[in-house]
Amino acid sequence: MAPTLFLDFDGVLHPYDVYLVNGKAVRPGGGLFVYAPLVVEALAPHPTVKIVLSTSWVSAIGFEESRSRLPVELQRRVVGATDQATARTRHSQIAHYVRQHGLIRWLAVDDDTEGWPVEQRKNLVRTPRAMGLAYPDAQRELADKLALLTTQA
Ligand SMILES: [Mg+2]
Repeated sequence: MAPTLFLDFDGVLHPYDVYLVNGKAVRPGGGLFVYAPLVVEALAPHPTVKIVLSTSWVSAIGFEESRSRLPVELQRRVVGATDQATARTRHSQIAHYVRQHGLIRWLAVDDDTEGWPVEQRKNLVRTPRAMGLAYPDAQRELADKLALLTTQA
């Protein structure tokens, strides 16, 4: 079973201020996916890690379109998406996917931690929504937790 990274977009790969205008994602504050290269870099030493999209983008513009916005190095790792209709909170959506697919080794990077259980804090890299992965502590935590994820038996 491949180690899996649940990847949120808004508040992670760019700051959170993204709006859907005429079916297009727009960020008045600046660029989209500006921090995606940091995920490419963090995953580079870990070729076995797969990505599951865990973002409202999938329900807004669809799975294929959402995946296509990622750098190709990340696109290749994407194996699925959580179903936002399965539960209200991000954690519950992820927990549903984990159960459904029998995942043992998984990690989420997200700015939305509502209802996240303390005992699963080790499975989460929380990013500040205004900075996303530009926050150096979050970059370090992602690198550290990916290393743990891929060395677990
Ligand atoms: Mg988010």
